[in-house]
Amino acid sequence: MLIKDTAICIRAVDYSETSQIVTFFARAAGKISVIAKGSKRPKSSFDGPIEIFSYGKIVFSNSNKEKLATLTEFESAYGSAGFTGLSNNLFTLNCCLFSTELLNKFTHDYDPHPKLFDDFLQFLQNAQSLTSIKYPASSIEMLALLILFQLGLLKEVGLQPILSYCVNCKTRYKRREMRNEKRETRNEVYFSSLANGLICRDCEATFPDKVRLTQTAANCLSNLKLLAESQEKTLNEIEAILIGHFTELLGHKPKMAKYILTL
Ligand SMILES: [Zn+2]
Repeated sequence: MLIKDTAICIRAVDYSETSQIVTFFARAAGKISVIAKGSKRPKSSFDGPIEIFSYGKIVFSNSNKEKLATLTEFESAYGSAGFTGLSNNLFTLNCCLFSTELLNKFTHDYDPHPKLFDDFLQFLQNAQSLTSIKYPASSIEMLALLILFQLGLLKEVGLQPILSYCVNCKTRYKRREMRNEKRETRNEVYFSSLANGLICRDCEATFPDKVRLTQTAANCLSNLKLLAESQEKTLNEIEAILIGHFTELLGHKPKMAKYILTL
């Protein structure tokens, strides 16, 4: 049976002189791996080799989900250009590769996530549009986009962290102005991967893995709209927390993580 779908390539490896094994994140099917026979031949039915971030319509045949499916058609949505603009900016490219790594790790084969597909496509489009903006504005915005994508990913796969109240005692996190930060010891707040969210000062002793958050980072996490106006320092703090969290969830540090923190 032939199946039509819309998909983004999240991994492509050479299989032979002329063929590739390609992992697609497909809108209706979810993550799938296919063999693209002859894709590296000069005149293939796929407009040349399929590269990471290639996006378009696919047709694949799959009679048995245990076996590798066969790609029969790939039609790029943007002609041959695709998201090639991403490679104009190394940091943007690394952030997109990191998001792809996480998407691959946190989704299962044939487990559809159409909302996550739409979010991922939007994320790549936004990232691509940032490549025309100069550093450092582009990398600050990229980091904010990455954080939002990562939180969206966690939500879609059922691992949404609790960021508005203490996971342990359910006390709501109260945002405060930054002016008195030095004196604000009563409002200490922590993030714990074990708890999957915020932990207040009264509960922190029970969670050995907790990391203390600055007031600014805690404010941002409890109101994600603040991310757009955040400084690089705050975004880096939040991203470091998320990388720690992904490391805990996966049991190892994601490969691309070391290219992400900018400070
Ligand atoms: Zn508490």
